[in-house]
Formats: sequence, structure tokens, C-alpha cells
Amino acid sequence: MHLPTRWRASVAAVLATVTAGIGAVAADTPSASAAAACQVSYRADQWSGGFVGYVKLTAGDSAIHGWTVGWTWPGDQKITNAWNAAVTQSGTAVTAVNAAYNGDLAPGASLEFGMQGTWVADNTAPAAFTVNGAPCGATPSPAPTSASPSPSRSSSPSPSASPSRSTPPSPSASPSPSASPSPSGPPPSGCTGALWCDGFEDQTGTVPSGAWTLAYPDCQGTGSAVVDTTVARSGSRSVRVDGTAGYCNHVFLKSTRDFGALGGVWYGRFYVRHTTALPAAHVTFLAMRDAADGNRDLRVGGQNAALQWNRQSDDATLPEQSPAGVAQSRPLPVDRWVCVEIRVDGPAGQVQTWTDGSEVAGLRVDGVPTADVDRQWLSRANWHPNLTDLRLGWESYGEGADRLWFDDIAWGAARIGC
Ligand code: CA
Repeated sequence: MHLPTRWRASVAAVLATVTAGIGAVAADTPSASAAAACQVSYRADQWSGGFVGYVKLTAGDSAIHGWTVGWTWPGDQKITNAWNAAVTQSGTAVTAVNAAYNGDLAPGASLEFGMQGTWVADNTAPAAFTVNGAPCGATPSPAPTSASPSPSRSSSPSPSASPSRSTPPSPSASPSPSASPSPSGPPPSGCTGALWCDGFEDQTGTVPSGAWTLAYPDCQGTGSAVVDTTVARSGSRSVRVDGTAGYCNHVFLKSTRDFGALGGVWYGRFYVRHTTALPAAHVTFLAMRDAADGNRDLRVGGQNAALQWNRQSDDATLPEQSPAGVAQSRPLPVDRWVCVEIRVDGPAGQVQTWTDGSEVAGLRVDGVPTADVDRQWLSRANWHPNLTDLRLGWESYGEGADRLWFDDIAWGAARIGC
């Protein structure tokens, strides 16, 4: 059996749900109406050496105004990145504090925050959580999770070896640009000034090839992308992406072109056709690796039902995810093609965004911090992206799934238009 070039992760989901109360009535006091307690649940997608974890906090009968969720890793997890909460780790102890926009939870309401991290020998899910210092679902036994070395844990005994997997995840580099793609079909309209323009008309099979390859960074699940001859914005072909929830189900259509000729200022234009409205949860459908930011991704996608940019390295969002910020972005239509244009100016550290030719006010980084828009983004000084790849597809960090199509993609050093 030939191993595929990409490592197919056995995506394991671990789930822990615990319940208890903030200020719950003591157990020895029978109460007429049992107060519903807060709940914290945890699940994770994991692969050899890495994981994405999701924590869902649900308020009980009482509202929550500001929250701090704490837990202790049973394993050797190390958090590298988080979203929808400020997460810090000291040893195995983790503290997650609400962001400015999600501190208030009505009775019974819930929210989710997430994190990405690494592990070596043990990625056991946390067994208990505290909310604002009170045990939320604490197991009655005094912290058995961190103290005694329970032999029955699923961890591998050797601390150094990672679980014996077939092959390590290939870093998805060197996508073998099989010679120069020879476009046989006519270029799509509206490509004047573009360095390249691609409507997938030269694709001959269902698996994207030539100028495109498929990429599944870190892990591969159920997401798929195929050349589709039944839906097209121009010509007779597009690429259809079936994206499902969960980080490891991501899939990207990755360009194999050399972006060196673009220089430091990128103008991108693509048409996308969504089936489902952008979800409340954070999703990405355009990712670009930033060599000036530790090769972390600069992302375009959605959150709170509107378009947004996201910086993977520090989870900064554009606009800020406050109600006033989200209101300055816009949702994307479904069941029709929409033209999305971006400008990323590395030397200037600026970003602009248009849909159907109309600029989105909340999706602009112009160097002057504006509350609810780019103030959070500009809190990092000297942000000068140096983009080195281009990936269109679907990546979810919690919930959110969609079937979507891409067509008529053009990139250049000046604005291309729709
Ligand atoms: Ca086409």
C-alpha cells in the first residue's frame, strides 16, 4: 500500500462535560427548585503533536457578567494560540478570561472559545473546570487529575516518543509544481492588469492540478475540494469545496504559482458562491501564509455572521468583534456569486476589502487606530505582512459548515476589479 503524500490524521475527538453551579446551593440543603448550574464542556481535534480544543461555557439559571474559566491539563498540552478568550498557561494550569465582547452570558446562554496547541505524550482532556473560581462540574474527589500518576491513563509511557503513527504530517510544502500549467481555456473576463487569472477552464479531472494543489495543514479530515463542471461563474468549471465543522476537516485549494513577482502589495480578486450564510462561529475561506509573522496565516472568513480578517498569530480580528464593529462589516449572500477583492499592502501595513466592488468600511486597516475597526489589529506595532502563499477553501475552528464554490481568481499588483 502506498502511503499518500499527505498524512491522514486519525482525528480523535475527546469530550468531557461537567456540570455544577456557580454559587450552587450546598448539597446538604434540599432546595425546592433545583437551580440549574453552569456547564463547561470540552472537545478537541487532535493529531500527532497538535490539537485544537474547544471550550463551551453555558450559564445556568443565573446570568454571568465576566468570566474566568480555569482548568488543569492532565497531559503535557501547551497552548500556542487562542480565540474568543485571553488564555494563559502556567505549568499545567490554564486560565481563560472573556474577551471584551463576550463577557456577558444570559441565563442558559452559551458561548465557545478555542485554542490551538501542542502535546507530546498525553492529550487527555481536562476533567474539571472552574468558573470565576468556583468549581463548575468539579469532581468530588480532591483533584485526582493532576496529582497521582494514574497508571490507567491512555498516555504513552515514554515521554519522548509521540504515539506511533504511520508518518508525521508532511509540512505541505513543495507541492510539486508539475511543470508550467498550460491553460487551454480562455481567461475569464475582467482580468486586465492581473498577473494571473484562473477560471479553472484548463482543469481536466476532478482533482485540482497544475496551478493548484490541495492542502490540509497539520491534519486531514473530511473536507474536500473538487473541480465542478455543473456550476461555474464563467466557462464551464469552478472548484467546489465541501467544508465541515472542526479544524481538521479543513481543506484548501492552494496555488502553486510563484508569488515573488507580485512584490509587497497584493491585490486579489475571486468570486465565491456560498450555500450557507456565514456562521456565528469563526471560519476561514482564504488563508495566506505570512513569512513576516512566523509563517502564520493571514485569514479572511467570517464570524458573527459577517466577513472578517483574522491574524492567526495573535487572533486579532478586523473588525473588532464588538457589535459596533461587526455592524461595519457585512454578511455574504448565498446562492449567488459574489466578487471579493482584497488589498494587502505589506510595506504600508494596510488592508482593504471590497464585495461586488463596494468597499467594506469595517474591513480596513489604514494605520490610524479606529475603535471597533482596526484598533485591536494595530495594537501590534510594525505589522508588515510578507505573504508567500494563497489558499482558498474552508477552515472551521468550532462550528460552521458550508458547500461553496470558487471561480475566476485573479491576483496582481494593482486593483483588478470585478
Ligand atoms: Ca470557470
